[in-house]
Amino acid sequence: MSIAENLNHIKATIPEKVTLVAVSKTHTAETLMEAYSTGQRVFGENKVQELCAKQLILPQDIEWHFIGHLQTNKVKFITPFISLIHSVDSLKLLAEINKEAIKNNRIISCLLEFYIASEESKFGLDLKEAEQLLDSPIFKTLDHICIAGVMGMASYTDDENIIRHEFRQLVSYFNQLKSKYFSTCADFKEISMGMSGDYQLAIKEGSTMVRIGSSIFGERSYLK
Ligand SMILES: *Cc1c(COP(=O)(O)O)cnc(C)c1O
Repeated sequence: MSIAENLNHIKATIPEKVTLVAVSKTHTAETLMEAYSTGQRVFGENKVQELCAKQLILPQDIEWHFIGHLQTNKVKFITPFISLIHSVDSLKLLAEINKEAIKNNRIISCLLEFYIASEESKFGLDLKEAEQLLDSPIFKTLDHICIAGVMGMASYTDDENIIRHEFRQLVSYFNQLKSKYFSTCADFKEISMGMSGDYQLAIKEGSTMVRIGSSIFGERSYLK
């Protein structure tokens, strides 16, 4: 199937209120344009250099989301234009984003990334770490960032019960943070969960934002 057909199929199966992030990592600008021409405007990338190269040449009305691990020394390259950073996992990173947001006279929206998978992973917070971050005096001074919700990646497995359990864990973290820190903050509303293999399950469990790559663009080749 073509990219347009894939996108139309996915859009037909997800509720309108769920945001579709087209994960375009490893794919060329020409390939992105195929999705763009069907009306897709939200794209996700996980490498700063690749994202910046594409942002420079592609239409300016694209809403770019950063979904990969972000190093503090690279924050400055994406802060002029990024719409949402899904992968904030430390106060240090948040402080750096705030600093660069000030320079660009912007408020930058961020999601807190949680570690929910049973696999070994280096990235993501647990609930206690997130609370420590949100309780810290430094966090309260960061007035150029907007915490818009949470993000997580489920285990890479065929076992739906495991994936469902992990999605429920993320929703529970969202609800706990919402009531403790963000009950009066309308911006804290996103639950970014669900990829090509599990987005339907993620939506059933309450996802507001799905990040879909291979089901739109086909399998990725990292050998280029
Ligand atoms: C690559 C990636 C996706 C998309 O994965 P697919 O299985 O190709 O849909 C989603 N989220 C993150 C964080 C990714 O790195």
